[in-house]
This record gives sequence, C-alpha cells and structure tokens, in this order.
Amino acid sequence: MHELSIIQSVVDTVRDSAQENGIKRVNKVKLVIGKMTMALPDSLQFAFEAIVIDEMFENAVLEIEEREITCECSSCQHCFQVDDAYRFICPNCGHDRVDIIGGRELYIDYFEGDEDIDGTS
Ligand SMILES: [Zn+2]
Repeated sequence: MHELSIIQSVVDTVRDSAQENGIKRVNKVKLVIGKMTMALPDSLQFAFEAIVIDEMFENAVLEIEEREITCECSSCQHCFQVDDAYRFICPNCGHDRVDIIGGRELYIDYFEGDEDIDGTS
C-alpha cells in the first residue's frame, strides 16, 4: 500500500525531529501532497491512524493540503492545471508536449507538539 509507506516515512521523520527538539507529544502534522503522487487523502488518514499507536502521536491529527497538477506548455509557455481526467494537453494552443511543474509535492509542511509539560520533576 502506497499511502502506508508514505505515512511510515512521515512519522519516522517527525519522530526524529521531535526527539531532536525535545518534543514529547506531537499534536498536529501538516502534510503537503501533490496529486501526481496518486496518494489518496482518505487512505493517508487511515494509514496515519493505523500507524500512530504510541504515546508521542496519541493525540496527533494529520492535516493534508492537496496540490493540483500544474503544467507548462513547451510550445507557448502557458501554465495550466490538469483536471481529474489527467489530460496533459495545453488548453491554449492544443499542444501535447507539456512539462509538469507542480503536483509532485510530498513533504511535511510543519508539525506542532509539546515539550515535556509534566512540571513535577
Ligand atoms: Zn500551449
């Protein structure tokens, strides 16, 4: 499952970064994902809930921002977004040689968490 491996690496990255920064609990993870990755937000959410069973991620929510697929025509340099039919044809001049310049995004925008707020030590 594609989404499961994405989420696994996202969680690993956040966990490493949280530990480096003294964060004990992660509250929110914001993920930016382009439609070229073919990852489905619902499946990502499902994978996230399936994977994060430990204390650090107990109350964490996953927020996903989807990015459209953006192309630039190699003939007239017109930029356009590809619709859900995935037709990679320039709407301006009808050329079918286009460069994909957006939509492959797959990164953690940011995450939020708490340092040890126990306070009793
Ligand atoms: Zn064009």
